[in-house]
Amino acid sequence: MSNDLLIQCCPNGCTGELYQTSIVVAEGPLGRCPSCGQLVSSCSKEFHELSSQDWNIEQGTWPLENDMKRLIKRRSRDLRILSKYLSTDKISLLDVGCSNGAFVSIANSLGIQAEGIDPSEKAVQNGRERGLKIHCGYLQEAGFHDNAFDAITLYEVIEHVHESKPLLQECYRILKPNGILLIGTGNTDSWTMRIMKNRWGFFNMKVHGGHINFFSPKSLSVLASRSGFSVKEIRTSSVTFYEKGEVPYFLYRTAKILSEILNMPSKIFNKGDQMEVYLMANKTTV
Ligand SMILES: [Zn+2]
Repeated sequence: MSNDLLIQCCPNGCTGELYQTSIVVAEGPLGRCPSCGQLVSSCSKEFHELSSQDWNIEQGTWPLENDMKRLIKRRSRDLRILSKYLSTDKISLLDVGCSNGAFVSIANSLGIQAEGIDPSEKAVQNGRERGLKIHCGYLQEAGFHDNAFDAITLYEVIEHVHESKPLLQECYRILKPNGILLIGTGNTDSWTMRIMKNRWGFFNMKVHGGHINFFSPKSLSVLASRSGFSVKEIRTSSVTFYEKGEVPYFLYRTAKILSEILNMPSKIFNKGDQMEVYLMANKTTV
């Protein structure tokens, strides 16, 4: 493979050579690991760097009012699941890639001692002005203490990162023994991916500002076990046939109704396109 490529080998630590798939997106064909099935972008280092700059904005990812209500509902459910694996009621939590801190704020309101970290200075500044505890920078450079947190969340982060194993290893180091890492990302083993292939919005670098690393329940489990974690729970949801504006409205609406019918079975068979994985740090008590 070309030396210009950002990702030259499987980010999950497999040794086999990546091969080109027939899924061709704007940056070129996606590569696949023959061992764990991981899909990766064939974008250049330069292209990825440029697209990552899109996130350094003051408005961050703080949702509008109606979307915030939906987010509170989803994240409250995630926190209920996460807390059942922890033996403490006083949960300390770090949200990695928090932008201006919408989830940090939600977690605080639910009695969790939450803080966040993000490299986008403008978004971080905005979050601090909202009274939230947010560090500016990349996790691996922040120097948190060993065993500092009960829980860490990585929402829509891991698909942006090409060195996913060092990221998880750092999460492992700063989690307490039996602490929980929650990863939220897209699912390449979803029905949506089967239906839409290269049209799946999750593959679109332009829309998502730098998605390059694409997981399935299987490949994420491989990465987790190689980074010191055991998988406690995997949940998926949502089926998508078309993006809005891609087809005539009537067809979009009909497909949307069908996708709502398929949402429940997609959860049962782990074929939804949104995935949350709950991982436990296997450490002995110090
Ligand atoms: Zn692999």
